[in-house]
Amino acid sequence: MSGTSEGPAPAEDLGRPAVTERGAEADPPHSSRPSSAHAAFAAAPLAMAVVDRKGFVRSANEAFAALFGGDPGALAGQAAAELVDLASDTRTWHAYRDVLRGRQARLRCTRRLKHPDGHSVWVQITVAPLPDADGGGAVLLSVRDISVRRELQARLRHLQMHDPVTRLPNRTLFFERLSGALDPGPYEEGGAGRIGLCYLDLDGFKAVNDTLGHRVGDRLLAAVAERLTRCADEAGYARAATPLVARLGGDEFALLVEDSTGTEQLADLAESVLKAVQEPFDLSGQRLSVSASIGVVERRTSETTATGLMQAADTTLYWAKADGKARWTLFDPERNAHRMTRQALSSTLRPAVDRGEFALEYQPLVGMEDGELHGVEALVRWHHPQFGTLTPNRFIGLAEEDGSIVQLGRWVLRTACRQARQWQLEHPGVEPVFVSVNVAVRQVWDSDLVADVADILAETGLAPRLLQLELTESAVMGSAGRPLQALQALSDMGVRIAIDDFGTGYSNLAYLSRLPVSVLKLDGSFVRGFRYDGGTHPNPADEVIVEALVQLAHRLGLTVTAECVETSGQATRLRRIGCDTGQGWLYSRPVTPDRISELLAGTGT
Ligand code: C2E
Ligand code: MG
Ligand code: MG
Repeated sequence: MSGTSEGPAPAEDLGRPAVTERGAEADPPHSSRPSSAHAAFAAAPLAMAVVDRKGFVRSANEAFAALFGGDPGALAGQAAAELVDLASDTRTWHAYRDVLRGRQARLRCTRRLKHPDGHSVWVQITVAPLPDADGGGAVLLSVRDISVRRELQARLRHLQMHDPVTRLPNRTLFFERLSGALDPGPYEEGGAGRIGLCYLDLDGFKAVNDTLGHRVGDRLLAAVAERLTRCADEAGYARAATPLVARLGGDEFALLVEDSTGTEQLADLAESVLKAVQEPFDLSGQRLSVSASIGVVERRTSETTATGLMQAADTTLYWAKADGKARWTLFDPERNAHRMTRQALSSTLRPAVDRGEFALEYQPLVGMEDGELHGVEALVRWHHPQFGTLTPNRFIGLAEEDGSIVQLGRWVLRTACRQARQWQLEHPGVEPVFVSVNVAVRQVWDSDLVADVADILAETGLAPRLLQLELTESAVMGSAGRPLQALQALSDMGVRIAIDDFGTGYSNLAYLSRLPVSVLKLDGSFVRGFRYDGGTHPNPADEVIVEALVQLAHRLGLTVTAECVETSGQATRLRRIGCDTGQGWLYSRPVTPDRISELLAGTGT
């Protein structure tokens, strides 16, 4: 019947015996044993009590009684479970009951007991049956004072969890607290809380260590720790919790705000820390000025993990350093996404050409006088399996950095030439359109561009005059030796060279005229500069410059293409100034080859 009862219920017969029973059991134990054994029990330094099967103390020794500030006789008949607090947790209570009933061999647990004089002791309690012959079915309860051991353990834990130089919590304790804060207990409501972190690194601490020695370095760290603690105390004033200040290693510190109210609170904290650290330090006569860089991250606890938070903090601290140090920077998801995609992109760039993830779009180049389609510029797109369609600004730079531009550029050239030839064959009645292909500097330097072009023209059957190569000003400026020879060879072959984005670099027309260049593509910023001041008058300065440029270009035998023509107003003025060709949304956005086919079909007979 009692076996079915659940939970700590010391109400049953294990706790409060009938008076008669207590009286009957109050004799000392082992009354039949020689008195020397009895004396040994009574005087043993280990606190012991014999407890009957119902849970009442039959007899206790001096040491046991001392724990409770009384004499052994007074303890007899008391419920042992109450004396040593065995009923406060269910598991121990059940185990204790099982030992009393002979169903379990032994119970061991740790308890903190309060001595009547006020001090508390940590004890280890063991309950084990006495041999039947000796105990008459009783159990022996022994209580070992482990306060000293506990104290040592606690001190050891403190040592393991704190940094000896600054006395701050160390990395281990910091992560313990962080995980605790992110992992709401079963009774707490998860998801409502926010957490914030200031991750700080001293600027130029290594120099202090190297020039003034480690002792000064250590003193500086301790002084910084003090200031951080002060900032945390001030921030925690009148709030439920004070931010935890920890030294994560070297000259890295963290301030953890476990009950953040939002980024503003973290920004205030970071600002105060920055100021506090910048105040000069007086280290036993040495005056030292340092600064700190701080990465600030603030999030909902339900949306972050310890690793995620630390990674974000690390990245943000890096930004703070990269942006010029002595500042705090707030985590910016967009900046982070950019960094991640840059990494992800560069690792998938090389194989992407083989996997056929690139495609070309073509943007019409239209005659300003006749409004007809003369050519198209090939613009590469990357249909990335994860990131969707990417424009060249996202990956051409990366491809140049890692050299994969050579392979990619060759693919672009071949695809564009093949396409131009195909249009020509499909629309025999129409004046063939030329294709303009962008060429990166590295393609000129790192590959045999001339041989590639010759091979591809031969392979596709495209006439050289229907191919134009676009190079940027900076790619051809100062070119001598190989690039110049390459340009010359291409020009001799009949391929046209255009200077892309003209006007953004040196704009040295006189120099350009000595190179085998035949087209200038006026950068979009010029055309965009044709804005109306106050909505009525065009900006005459821009127009004068562009007009002069176009006239000079014409005198040098170059034709001019205007990029980024978006409005008919711009087109009218560009035409008046003398631009030969226009490219831009006014005419068409970059489109698929099929769309160009349709345009060609429309202009044909
Ligand atoms: P770009 O050669 O100056 O190409 C013109 C860029 O301006 C294209 O951007 C085009 O879409 C955009 N554009 C055209 N008309 C307008 C307009 O009216 N308004 C505005 N706002 N923009 C206009 P896209 O396709 O993003 O290409 C960017 C750059 O990437 C190109 O600038 C070129 O330098 C480079 N690029 C593109 N394809 C290749 C390639 O196959 N190889 C190499 N090396 N670079 C390429
Ligand atoms: Mg271009
Ligand atoms: Mg351009």
